[in-house]
Amino acid sequence: MADSDYYSVLGVKKDASEGDIKKAYRKLARKYHPDINPGDKQAEEKFKIISQAHEALSNPEKRKIYDEFGEEGLRTGFDPEQARQYKNWTRQTGQSGARGFAAGFGGDTAYDTGGFRYSGFEDVFSDLFGGTQSSKSPAKGRDAESTLDLDFSTAIHGGSRRVTMQTSKPCPACGGSGRISPVSGDVCRTCKGTGQTGVAQGPLQFSRTCPDCGGTGRAGEVCKECGGSGFKSSTETIDVTIPAGVKDGSKIRLAGKGSPGTNGGPPGDLYIITRVSTHPFYKRDGDSLRVELPVTVSEAINGADIPVDTPTGTVQLKIPKGTRGGQRFRLKGKGVPNLKTKAPGDMYVTIRIQVPETDAEEVVAAARTLDRFYKGDIRKSIKL
Ligand SMILES: [Zn+2]
Ligand SMILES: [Zn+2]
Repeated sequence: MADSDYYSVLGVKKDASEGDIKKAYRKLARKYHPDINPGDKQAEEKFKIISQAHEALSNPEKRKIYDEFGEEGLRTGFDPEQARQYKNWTRQTGQSGARGFAAGFGGDTAYDTGGFRYSGFEDVFSDLFGGTQSSKSPAKGRDAESTLDLDFSTAIHGGSRRVTMQTSKPCPACGGSGRISPVSGDVCRTCKGTGQTGVAQGPLQFSRTCPDCGGTGRAGEVCKECGGSGFKSSTETIDVTIPAGVKDGSKIRLAGKGSPGTNGGPPGDLYIITRVSTHPFYKRDGDSLRVELPVTVSEAINGADIPVDTPTGTVQLKIPKGTRGGQRFRLKGKGVPNLKTKAPGDMYVTIRIQVPETDAEEVVAAARTLDRFYKGDIRKSIKL
């Protein structure tokens, strides 16, 4: 945190107006917000610092304290009056001001921001006009993402997949409080439920996280089930319904299956991102299906009914007499169902004429006979 001068974090001057600070924050939040950079830890860290800087500098009172005392001044329980006295006291008693000053807070003092959580992207911008929420208010859990591998035909037909995943749930033993109390709702006697206790340093009182309740404000023993965190990880099996027509990279939303909320807030959502494997013969192009189909020389010359596998079963494709290689036929409604409208796309069948793999005399002679029926040089118009 040594390099986090809040002004340089936001890229503004020391005398920047409130408007400048808001503007700078908006710009950076748009770039680094975790919703825009899912899974990017660096962006998340950056966004955290940007948010801290904005929180400190957008509030005129906090900004004044920050200008005078730096980041230390914004910690929980910081009293500017006491700090000024303390400065005088260390000066008079000859103690090392820097060391004493920092030591007064202890290593485990909580920041005012509490457990860091971020608001949804839209919320960042509405927050600029409303007040900042207290960190104790209920907050929705984060959305989670998970990938699901699907084969080509399951993506076309849809189906159901059982997915096992690690989830974190409020601990059932302590109800998410992290403490087991003989009387439910009993508050910590040491801190009277505030989660903070005073610590004397010289003539001064500083607040620090209550050691008896770990800042929870609840009475009782540390919950053995969750080690006081209030959360338990477990494996959960979810049956995911895969809608027909999902594509590579489609997102399936499972409401409420994301990370648990804090302070009684609702859980986030889980997004299953599908990864669809390719097919050796069929290709997808949006809702269209494409396939190249081999036919015999005789089928091409005489015409034929060719069986074609489609998503709704095998159909007979009638190819006319004299079908050329590379000719394309459309099978209407035999493509992939559209995810939104459910209406199927079309299938396009491209004909490839396959010659028999043989050098039998009979075949060679028959092929020479065929040659006699071409009208002139078949390549004469192919010129650059
Ligand atoms: Zn306590
Ligand atoms: Zn627990």
